[in-house]
Amino acid sequence: MTERIRNKRKEEIKRQKAKGKNKEANSGLLILISRGLFSLFLPFAFCLLISSVVSAQSRASFTVGPVTVKAGEKASGMIEVPAAKDEATTIPISVIHGARPGPVFALIAGNHGYEYTSIIALQRLLPQLDPKQISGTVVMVHVANMPSFLKRTIYYSPVDGKNLNRVYPGKVDGTVSERIAYQITREVIDRSDYLIDLHCGDGNESLRPYSYWDVQNDGPGGPAVIEKSKQMALAFGLDHIVMDRERPTDPNKSVYCSTTATTRGKPAITTESGGLGMTDNESIARIERGVLSVMRHLKMIEGAPQMVEHPIFIDRNAVLRSDVTGIFYPLLERGQTVAKGTLMGYVTDFFGKRIFELRAPFGGTVLYILGTPPVSQGEPLAMIGHIVETER
Ligand SMILES: [Zn+2]
Repeated sequence: MTERIRNKRKEEIKRQKAKGKNKEANSGLLILISRGLFSLFLPFAFCLLISSVVSAQSRASFTVGPVTVKAGEKASGMIEVPAAKDEATTIPISVIHGARPGPVFALIAGNHGYEYTSIIALQRLLPQLDPKQISGTVVMVHVANMPSFLKRTIYYSPVDGKNLNRVYPGKVDGTVSERIAYQITREVIDRSDYLIDLHCGDGNESLRPYSYWDVQNDGPGGPAVIEKSKQMALAFGLDHIVMDRERPTDPNKSVYCSTTATTRGKPAITTESGGLGMTDNESIARIERGVLSVMRHLKMIEGAPQMVEHPIFIDRNAVLRSDVTGIFYPLLERGQTVAKGTLMGYVTDFFGKRIFELRAPFGGTVLYILGTPPVSQGEPLAMIGHIVETER
């Protein structure tokens, strides 16, 4: 019995050893196959690695003001605006210089210093953008109008009383707003291929989101600039698009930041999301999504853009101004639709007597209306847009 058992055990051990050998043989085969594949793949992977390193290295660095950035890196700094007839200021910028070649895309926030949503949106976008994943270069102007931002003024600079977004392309020896515009034109706009000037309603404006599409300017780029600007507006994702027919066409008197780009043949739009000095998440997130979608549209990052499917084009618009100085009482909300002649609000004197009535000059959508009481003669009370019936 014991002999039989012993023999059985011996046979069992033999069988297991053979199994083990087979296992080893199998795994050895696997190792051989994977080694073979790896050695086949290795030169290919190595070539890929080398070529990406070489292309990043051979791609020149990019300089804006005092900031020079190597391909695949990002950096920030201050453009100095030296003192002249009035005080000096600074313009904080960031440059995200992609590892791969592509367009230079400028994002300008804070031309109006009380418009916070776009300023905060760039603060959120900067850490999200990985230069190793980007084709091209993003240049961010975080706060274009530093004097207005720090002193919390709407429309006008506290230093020279000028509206920065009405003095482009600026002057090297002008007042501080003109010198800021000059630096942004020379350092940022002249170096860019595409531009978005990011706004929202000012500190006193209750605004529904929309974009301005400059349909006047094709600049040296030809009619394609107008079409490319339209595609940028559609990619940004705001469904109300103002067809702006009143932009100047002289690059030396471009007046507006985005018109400084279009008159120089660079597709550009102005966007509006948020207002009333707020930093609400919805308005900020809308800007973030818009910028990333335009970057996808320009093939600067992976993925498909989210184009507006059913754009609402506004072919005619009017900024409605006050004839008098006093206290404003709005009677409706942003985004409401009004018929011609609708009473939109009124202005009283400082003793409560109604001295001015704001009526809709044509039927349309209220793009913005003042949400705070003070108003000076000649200042805007509201903007109304007439909607095109058919899609273009
Ligand atoms: Zn603005």
